[in-house]
Amino acid sequence: MKPVIALVGRPNVGKSTLFNRLTKTRDAIVADFAGLTRDRHYGNGKHGRIEFIVIDTGGFEPDASSGIYMEMAKQTRQAVAEADVVLFVVDARAGISAQDHEIAKYLRKLGKSCVLLANKAEGLKEGAQLVEFFELGLGEVVPISASHGQGIKPLLDLALTAL
Ligand code: GDP
Ligand code: MG
Repeated sequence: MKPVIALVGRPNVGKSTLFNRLTKTRDAIVADFAGLTRDRHYGNGKHGRIEFIVIDTGGFEPDASSGIYMEMAKQTRQAVAEADVVLFVVDARAGISAQDHEIAKYLRKLGKSCVLLANKAEGLKEGAQLVEFFELGLGEVVPISASHGQGIKPLLDLALTAL
């Protein structure tokens, strides 16, 4: 069975950009994978010889009549439940938000294998902006740039060995 990687984080941190980077596509591929529900966004990725499945979250249509945050929380919980490893994405430029703290608390409680990613880190001096993310209590933060394709290989090395 292929390992499953879930992308989790508040809106606008770059999860979908990372999804496209990891699956090397602009379009969703619905993974043909028994047992997974189809209302989230699944794709196939490959790192060296290792094939994996990646789940994006937050890709639903916002609907004023159905609480958007409740739906996101539900999607996130389901994706995390299906995952072997969770990539928790934060925004290296925006810094920590209250929502980041909430998600971190949830992930710490679950005790699932988790890698903390600071996206949008292109051109940032390592250390300076990233040290605050230690506060989330999830260990080391890995700087990446999903849109520039930086740090992706080290990230996958780490995520797939964390299994
Ligand atoms: P999501 O809501 O978490 O899925 O975030 P998106 O993937 O939709 O990205 C939100 C915004 O951040 C878009 O404008 C992206 O172009 C931008 N973005 C994503 N990754 C990066 C990155 O590595 N660097 C920068 N500077 N912007 C990024
Ligand atoms: Mg998205």
